[in-house]
Amino acid sequence: MAKGFLLVISGPSGSGKGTVSAALMAKHQDIKFSTSVTTRPPRPSEVDGENYFFRTQAEFERMVEEDQLLEYAFVHTNYYGTPKDFVFSEVEKGEIVLLEIDVQGAMQIKEKYKEAVFIFLLPPTMEELKQRIIGRGTESEEDIKTRFSNAFKELDFVGEYDYFVVNDQVDQAVEDIENIIAAEKLRVKRQKNIKEDMIRKGELD
Ligand code: ADP
Ligand code: 5GP
Repeated sequence: MAKGFLLVISGPSGSGKGTVSAALMAKHQDIKFSTSVTTRPPRPSEVDGENYFFRTQAEFERMVEEDQLLEYAFVHTNYYGTPKDFVFSEVEKGEIVLLEIDVQGAMQIKEKYKEAVFIFLLPPTMEELKQRIIGRGTESEEDIKTRFSNAFKELDFVGEYDYFVVNDQVDQAVEDIENIIAAEKLRVKRQKNIKEDMIRKGELD
């Protein structure tokens, strides 16, 4: 049986992490989404416990103090973090856990978990990125500026990732990620007992 692993997807705001992750998970119910905690207020369509656990700053700080987060970071203008328990229990069960987190959080995971897979999602062009952030219509003008200028800083980290995927067409980006997952599942280091499994199969034949 294959071991579970963390699939970390980062990319600038508006590159399509949410869109591509949702399309990927709609096709693969076995990929588990790690719902993050954030101090950001919910967008109109967002549901607490589904998109994020929306918490106050005090509640977030308590989670940090109680060591409940695998990683956390201040991104744009709010705190975001990954609850530890869910990730560990799912990986233990052999599942793939998708973490949609920023570059700072990804670097913390990289320090702690060598076996995670890191994908950087890129927009086709920076102009298209800007249009997508504006087009989403969920941020103020000020916040759009912060997110767009942060996009250039985030690009500095692309060399730290294992794979890059360009989100021009959503379907193609999903297919690229499916191919990455398929290859990662075949890594020898992700198998528990190749030799024992072969011997057991032989006994059954
Ligand atoms: P992120 O989660 O990275 O901030 P979103 O998934 O919210 O990005 O996407 C930002 C905006 O771009 C959304 O309005 C989304 O519908 C749109 N979008 C995402 N992927 C594409 C694509 N391949 N082509 C056109 N628009 C896209
Ligand atoms: P948004 O506000 O657009 O949902 O997310 C803003 C940024 O925060 C994105 O880059 C997103 O990947 C990142 N983010 C979301 N959840 C987490 C998390 O748990 N940890 C970290 N470090 N970043 C996160």
